[in-house]
Amino acid sequence: MYHLFMIDYHLHGNFCGHAEGELEEYVLEALGKGFVEIGFSDHLPKVVNPDPYHAMLEERLPEYVALVGHLQRKYAGKITIRLGIEADFFPGFEDRTRSLLASMPFDYVLGSVHFLGDWHFTSKAHRDRYETEDPGVAFPRHFELLGSMIESGLFDVLAHPDALRKERFVPPLPPEREYAGIAALLAARGMAIEVNTAGLRRGAGSIYPDPALLAACHGAGVPVTLGSDAHAPVDVGRDFTLAFQLLERTGVTEIATYEGRRMTRRPIGEFRQVAGSGRFYDMLSGGEALWRKQHEPNRP
Ligand code: ZN
Ligand code: FE
Ligand code: FE
Ligand code: ZN
Repeated sequence: MYHLFMIDYHLHGNFCGHAEGELEEYVLEALGKGFVEIGFSDHLPKVVNPDPYHAMLEERLPEYVALVGHLQRKYAGKITIRLGIEADFFPGFEDRTRSLLASMPFDYVLGSVHFLGDWHFTSKAHRDRYETEDPGVAFPRHFELLGSMIESGLFDVLAHPDALRKERFVPPLPPEREYAGIAALLAARGMAIEVNTAGLRRGAGSIYPDPALLAACHGAGVPVTLGSDAHAPVDVGRDFTLAFQLLERTGVTEIATYEGRRMTRRPIGEFRQVAGSGRFYDMLSGGEALWRKQHEPNRP
């Protein structure tokens, strides 16, 4: 029996150079899969070194906001569509980031770290750096950035906090103290943490975050959002059965939703469909099949 969550708060689209598909194609995909609420979270224009491959240029931001508004009206009554954005944290550029975020009526802001200095560690173009970078240096620096990001107060949700992690690129020691620190900071700031299934597709081999970090956050009372980080329409809701299993194991019973940057905690049951009921859609994917092979080898 598989459960699916019918809410996805981390969707991209062709406003950035590294994703494909019109925003409307994501809406149609979500409708087809039975989603009741989605949120677009394309990349906020970079406030340093603008780069249309990573994020739309600033002059396109109004177009993005207007298009999401158009889709909200066009599909009203069928699906709730939130206007989100995924914003990078660049220390030293907080004021610039704050004013850009305040310039548009966002429902929520995902906060992300994608860069360590000149290393764009989430980019395919920089993947070879994983061979030469030292995890003993990279992870402490990354944790420090995450801490400053949370304390900046600019963001609502901490997105993929361990996107730096890859199968063979992990912290030298289990970062229990760092996880506890992140959880405490999130709780103090009233932020949520995202459960993001893209980790299954991007070399980490498991969902972001590390279950130990999710457990620390849950223990500190930090609420959870859910996202596929789809960069193509077909990935909407990808691997959400596994996300559900992770939440269930962790004891999470509520999902955080946002409107006008105000959070509401809602019971998970509101967004759950059980396989075989309603408009169930089989989202079994390559990532999920691989995970099952590793974790449930005897399952037919
Ligand atoms: Zn992206
Ligand atoms: Fe990201
Ligand atoms: Fe993303
Ligand atoms: Zn992302």
